[in-house]
Amino acid sequence: MKKQLNNLLFLSSCTVAILMLTASAIPEKTGINLPSWGFFAHKRINRLAVLTLPPEMMVFFKKHIDFIADHAVDPDMRRYATRLEGARHFIDLDQYGTPPFENLPRNWSDALIRHTDIRVVDSKGDTMLLVDHRDTMTPVFRQEYRKWFRQSVVPAFYSGNHEVNPDSVFRFFSDWGRLDTRPADAFFQEYISGHGILPWNLQHFQQKLTDAFRERDARLILKLSAEIGHYIGDAHVPLHTCSNYNGQKTGQHGIHGFWESRIPELFADESYDYFVGKPVYIENTRDWFWQCALDSHSMVDSVLSIEKALRESFPADRQMCPDMRQGIMGIHPCREFASAYQEALDGMVERRMRAAIVAVSSAWYTAWANAGQPDLSGLNAGTPNQQELEEEQTVRNAFALGKIFGRTEEH
Ligand SMILES: [Zn+2]
Repeated sequence: MKKQLNNLLFLSSCTVAILMLTASAIPEKTGINLPSWGFFAHKRINRLAVLTLPPEMMVFFKKHIDFIADHAVDPDMRRYATRLEGARHFIDLDQYGTPPFENLPRNWSDALIRHTDIRVVDSKGDTMLLVDHRDTMTPVFRQEYRKWFRQSVVPAFYSGNHEVNPDSVFRFFSDWGRLDTRPADAFFQEYISGHGILPWNLQHFQQKLTDAFRERDARLILKLSAEIGHYIGDAHVPLHTCSNYNGQKTGQHGIHGFWESRIPELFADESYDYFVGKPVYIENTRDWFWQCALDSHSMVDSVLSIEKALRESFPADRQMCPDMRQGIMGIHPCREFASAYQEALDGMVERRMRAAIVAVSSAWYTAWANAGQPDLSGLNAGTPNQQELEEEQTVRNAFALGKIFGRTEEH
């Protein structure tokens, strides 16, 4: 019975930021999604991040604060529209050994190379393994292979297409005596997305945001600012950094939504200290994003073990309660139980939410600074064009259908 209640209750949709949320079981069952409630935390983080910015940025961001808050949830909605999206929201660090995971490349190309095979197909349709990701390579070959890989494979990864140009494959590998004839087809197979790409994706978005500031592209600045805010929020949630992301391996189904949705929903606006100070300039964004994820990961054990202990000691009949959410009655962790968990965590949820707010504004500020501190005062965001409107509608329609690709925190 208890498990059923958990199932009912925590159907969350994801993950969202430090807190986020969930579309709850009920929308899933009825086919109606309720975007606003569950997205509480992501929206709150983005909105509060705007308020910390220096005047040179505030002049533009404040005008668009509603857009930046509302679109904080776009990446999660996109998980219902494309299978490429899900991996950006998490990383299962426990799949890579133990902290500080020194063998895991912080650079995206190096990480992808280490976890990718290259295969070719000959004219008869037979497939051959050309590069095994476990191969040991000579330093000279590795250096050249890396250059080729960055040009020929990395862009394909981002396009979602696993094909590699056979001419490019033939040119490179025949030079090294590894291929005699031009293959009919070539493709790669990577083993990294399944464990999530969150910290690498953050660096990718940081670069795109910096470029948008450099171009003074108002619409793109707003879109990317809103979206990197989402991913940074996710990076501050401990359960976004481990494979036991919903307690499914330890009999704690529903803990994802409990930590990142229920607790902030109940307590954030009424008791959290949102004064987080000013953004800082980040010298090395790549290492810094990684540190966010590593810090989160260091809290995973506490998140799980404290909840487990509390479930055993707290009166069982006062753990789950009927409560209204967006006008719909459901079964959720009781207020007193949530309060006890929050206290036992010694304010961790609040600390991570505060850290996320200043992290988001620091990433925006750093992108702007690295773009040469462009004057934002005269920027005009205009109105969305037809293509933007259509893309947004596609994502919203997919979200409304409620069929997510990949990982879900519903259990
Ligand atoms: Zn997310």
